[in-house]
Amino acid sequence: MSMNNVGRPTRPEASNDDTGFASLSGGRGLLQDEPLIFELGGWSKTGVDLPDAVPADGALAGLTRDEPIGLPGLSEPEAVRHYVRLSQKNHAIDLALYPLGSCTMKHNPRLNEKMARLPGLSDIHPLQPQSTVQGAIELMDRLAHWLKTLTGMPAVALSPKAGAHGELCGLLAIRAAHEAAGNGHRKTVLAPTSAHGTNPATAAFCGYTVVEIAQTDDGRVDLADLEAKLGDHVAAIMVTNPNTCGLFERDVVEIARLTHAAGAYFYCDGANFNAIVGRVRPGDLGVDAMHINLHKTFSTPHGGGGPGAGPVVLSEALAPFAPTPWVVHDDSGYKLVEEAEGVAAQAFGRMSAFHGQMGMYVRAYAYMLSHGADGLKQVAEDAVLNANYIKARLSDLMSPAFPEGPCMHEALFDDAWLEDTGVTTLDFAKAMIDEGFHPMTMYFPLVVHGAMLIEPTETESKAELDRFVDALRLLAQAAKAGETARFKNAPHLAPLKRLDETLAARKPKLKWKPVAPAPLAAE
Ligand SMILES: *Cc1c(COP(=O)(O)O)cnc(C)c1O
Repeated sequence: MSMNNVGRPTRPEASNDDTGFASLSGGRGLLQDEPLIFELGGWSKTGVDLPDAVPADGALAGLTRDEPIGLPGLSEPEAVRHYVRLSQKNHAIDLALYPLGSCTMKHNPRLNEKMARLPGLSDIHPLQPQSTVQGAIELMDRLAHWLKTLTGMPAVALSPKAGAHGELCGLLAIRAAHEAAGNGHRKTVLAPTSAHGTNPATAAFCGYTVVEIAQTDDGRVDLADLEAKLGDHVAAIMVTNPNTCGLFERDVVEIARLTHAAGAYFYCDGANFNAIVGRVRPGDLGVDAMHINLHKTFSTPHGGGGPGAGPVVLSEALAPFAPTPWVVHDDSGYKLVEEAEGVAAQAFGRMSAFHGQMGMYVRAYAYMLSHGADGLKQVAEDAVLNANYIKARLSDLMSPAFPEGPCMHEALFDDAWLEDTGVTTLDFAKAMIDEGFHPMTMYFPLVVHGAMLIEPTETESKAELDRFVDALRLLAQAAKAGETARFKNAPHLAPLKRLDETLAARKPKLKWKPVAPAPLAAE
């Protein structure tokens, strides 16, 4: 295999499939092999004609570049082809079911994209006078209203830009509330063993010590352990519901009661809100703060690229500490409260320079309006139904991590069923690529051995679910029949085969260097 100077194979391995047949050029059944954009050369080429730049003498105080910038130049058709060819090497949400768990929102209704591109919402600037963007600010206010209504919470901070950013917002509000009440000595945050990594990371980032809460055999928070660990030193608990095992925390009301009795706040990680939206209001369960990943529950496919948005709903107790800005309106119209004074005197600060991700707000609001309250409820019901269908159809061959009772929006399997087959979770996931499916989430949550977390979401038809399940069943039968060769070096049919992912993560090559001129033949 030829390698380029950053160690990437420039061509697929000689044999493109198990028959040993290989094309001569590296192409494959109407798909072209494609080098890096830097290797395509053409430094002086461009897709547009620009007038020669007039040198701005003196303005750069002697910092003018004295060498070519070294960016690759391509003509328009070359640029289009380059990216289309790259896109064909990867999975696409529009191609097939994308079973990643802890993720949600796969199909993104095109209507929302259309709305987000309306010039009155996309061609505006955050520094424009507010009187000229009244419609956009009103949209933020209406979105805030929906989020508060759906969660049963009195306040929302729209500006956090992702789930993890929302967690930071929630914990900063909690810290501000404790400090205002003279409880700044509370320096511990409790989180279950199954928590998403962002939970402990956020708590540590805010200066808290993180203590783990144990889990019961049926995948829920261990109440006795929680009670034992609560106390005057605890600032908050962070609990995901439905949790990362795809299970509803049955004792969530008791969790809230114990937490409040100990003087701590209940931060709920709302990344899985998709599974309960329209059916359960977190405010009724005793939650004090919860982020909602708009990109996981209210449109924009997660895993399909950014940006996201992570608004945080807040209880009565935390609302005064919400970060600016937020929207108010009176007879004169809509306004953003931006300064930490008056009603916002206790605001802990800001989460971002401006108002957050406007494009996401539009998508989320369009999604809510097009579904309506009943439609959103059906989203949750269909997401849960689809996950249970997968769990039911695979449980005779694969081992569900928590066999008792139904799951929520995710079906979680462990690797007990692969014992003695010589096939690992990783091998199985890679073999799925050969069958045309993107792998599910692997090895998360950490509490389940060899975890395989499958999340179909509400947008898959029964036919698509069956197609996916049928492929997994064939693979599972092959693993049990001892066909290890099928798994060990999988994927066999992808443009690149099994990669050394550990090496790639530990020693990433992030910089491209120009290729050295080839040595003369005589040397
Ligand atoms: C995705 C996710 C997060 C983080 O959200 P981002 O938007 O990716 O920052 C946190 N917790 C859980 C359970 C998640 O699934």
